[in-house]
Amino acid sequence: MIKLTQNDKLKGGCGTDIGHTLTIFAGFMKTRSLKKDKVNIITLGCSKNMVDSEVLSGQLLANDIDVVHENRKKDHNIVIINTCGFIDKAKEESVNTILEQVELKKKGKLEKVYVTGCLSERYRNNLEEEIPEVDAFFGTMELPQILKRFEADYKAELVGERLLATPSHYAYMKISEGCNRTCSFCAIPLMRGKHVSRPIEELVKEAETLVKRGVKEIMLIAQELTYYGLDIYKNRELPKLLHALADVEGLEWIRLHYAYPSKFPLEIIDVMKERENICNYLDMPLQHAANNMLKAMKRQINREEMNELIAEIRGKLPEICLRTTLIAGFPGETEDDVEELKGFLQEHRFDRVGIFTYSHEEGTSAYDLVDDVPQDVKEERAREVMEVQQEISYEKNQEKLGRVFKVLIDKKESGRYLGRTEFDSVEVDNEVIVHADRALKPGEFVQVKITKAYDFDLEGELVQ
Ligand code: SF4
Repeated sequence: MIKLTQNDKLKGGCGTDIGHTLTIFAGFMKTRSLKKDKVNIITLGCSKNMVDSEVLSGQLLANDIDVVHENRKKDHNIVIINTCGFIDKAKEESVNTILEQVELKKKGKLEKVYVTGCLSERYRNNLEEEIPEVDAFFGTMELPQILKRFEADYKAELVGERLLATPSHYAYMKISEGCNRTCSFCAIPLMRGKHVSRPIEELVKEAETLVKRGVKEIMLIAQELTYYGLDIYKNRELPKLLHALADVEGLEWIRLHYAYPSKFPLEIIDVMKERENICNYLDMPLQHAANNMLKAMKRQINREEMNELIAEIRGKLPEICLRTTLIAGFPGETEDDVEELKGFLQEHRFDRVGIFTYSHEEGTSAYDLVDDVPQDVKEERAREVMEVQQEISYEKNQEKLGRVFKVLIDKKESGRYLGRTEFDSVEVDNEVIVHADRALKPGEFVQVKITKAYDFDLEGELVQ
């Protein structure tokens, strides 16, 4: 049951936080009739939710409706909130955002408030009852219904055309929707349904469109990336898709997120090795390392198999950057389990690690277990695990001192250029502080010699 409390604004969401400015592509904007609706889209949660907002924005604009993302000018009269319903913190942030916007409507600063996304998909009935001021709630697969509210039609021909909410030199690309896995802690299949892959041709067309518009780097995302193709091609076709995308002229970096360890198609690593523009980077959430936890989480893999998989991946591509995500405080987790998890990190020395505290989600099979680890203990365990990782990250960064790396410049912040190597994805990984004797542009690739190395970030001089 969702509880409505006016808490402090929280940072949350599944995997990666977002807040971006909208880049409007030429040729989309058209004039509109006298009373001009202006729609502000607020996106919460993960990069997959953001792609949905980008697709929605593209459709609205193609129907002559003015749309902005995270509008700071506040000159809009309609708001669409794309919510997250993944874990407690994210749900609370979504509810707070809805209540804030409803307050603005009550004050006459907004005419319409629409809500879509995962929280709306999961709790629509409760929300309709609890917040009747919202004009309409939509599920995660109801884009045409949202457009109907604007007397707009869904334009299938627009596939691949969306308004990016990211800076124009990188973009996320969702290669499939939904998930067929049954991880016991996860509510995503409840909100996103079964796994549906998008055809290779459609994804190549989308990549070509994005590159034509200045995108240099594409992050491939899904609920479960490595399942790609099993539904529409009856085979794991991620390697084939990677080759097709790597053939897109001008696409400099292709990055893989959300790989699943069980039945992992190792050919992916061969393609990564073979194709210059596929980053030597793999994000593969493992969630835990103690076998009793992996079993209770229904991860369909055990510690020994994970050890083997990591050894095989590194055997094929020693310089690969491995990122993983973990959960602290799952029901029944003991101090010994946490020690085992720390040992696992020390054994495999991942390059990047993210950690969540377990959230007891109704509708998941873990909800039948007793949520017996107190919240403060969950947080303490997460902190301990990240402390181990911080040391590993520091040591690994020291090894980069004096070396030269290709760096993609993302932005200039307080007079310093910030960028990333191929080993760093946006928002979740490390940054490189770049000192340059000339002006650098976002989206520019440069060579940087590393002069300083910190726990997570690096610092260096432009060499070319
Ligand atoms: S793979 Fe597991 S954790 Fe990931 S979306 Fe599917 S069920 Fe959830």
